[in-house]
Amino acid sequence: MLAGILGGQGTQIGGHYYFLLFFLTAPLVVPTHDKRGMAIVCAICVSWFCLFELHPWPSSIAVQALGPATIKLLYLSVLLSGSVVLFVALLAGEYFSELLERRIQQMASTDELTGLGNRRVFYQVLAQWQAAYHCEQRPFCVAMLDIDHFKNINDTYGHEAGDQVLRALSMLLRQGVSQEDVVCRIGGEEFAVLLAGHTLEQARMVCEALRQRIAATPIRAAGTQLQVTVSLGVGQCKGPDCLAGIDRALYAAKHAGRNAVHLHQAGVAEPNQAQV
Ligand code: GH3
Ligand code: MG
Ligand code: MG
Repeated sequence: MLAGILGGQGTQIGGHYYFLLFFLTAPLVVPTHDKRGMAIVCAICVSWFCLFELHPWPSSIAVQALGPATIKLLYLSVLLSGSVVLFVALLAGEYFSELLERRIQQMASTDELTGLGNRRVFYQVLAQWQAAYHCEQRPFCVAMLDIDHFKNINDTYGHEAGDQVLRALSMLLRQGVSQEDVVCRIGGEEFAVLLAGHTLEQARMVCEALRQRIAATPIRAAGTQLQVTVSLGVGQCKGPDCLAGIDRALYAAKHAGRNAVHLHQAGVAEPNQAQV
């Protein structure tokens, strides 16, 4: 289009400087990692600019008839509008790259199936809360939850039904805790809940309520109502090895028959753990 306009106006008004602007804004049109594409766009822009700069194009008779003052004004307006175009293009580039970065960050921290935070988020928040605990002594608990006999659901009703159960369970978990608690999917059918400001007894009550609610809520999948139960291990997370203890409590709940909440209490031998 610009080449067409220049064909009529010639190079007297400086319209060919726009090709340099296109050259500068090439990263907005072609992804920078596409080296070949970038090279082609830049080469086209620079070639057009050089062509008009080295071989000035005569303008039409009507343009030639304009006085030098008008030509100067037109020349200035080309420079000004060019600067505005460049400024807006750079602003837009900044805006879109920020948008892209946020989207990438969100994708890297979200579990695609359930929309919950993923394992990475869990460890990030845990580290933050542990650091805050050492400063402010604000207690918090971690619950690890595993669906009982989940493989049977996949084997009997299919993988899609299993996915449906994971989604429904995620919603039940989210609804069953408060806004400041964090629910993450940390593995296939394993979830972790970070319970802010909870003592172990408060956390046990929340987990017990979750367990009961899940067991009492049929989940619609594969055209039928599925009854799902979960086992949980829960404990206060003060030290770096607390997760291993909570994991042991979870497996104690499994071995005790599943559909249960077991506690991890630092310094107390595992076989004596409190249970439902
Ligand atoms: P347990 O009560 O001992 O926990 O038994 P389980 O069957 O729940 O545990 P197991 O580890 O034997 O099986 C877990 C299953 O979870 C196996 C795997 O195929 C399934 N799984 C893992 N991730 C997904 C997923 O994203 N979607 C579906 N549908 N299934 C998944
Ligand atoms: Mg498991
Ligand atoms: Mg399981």
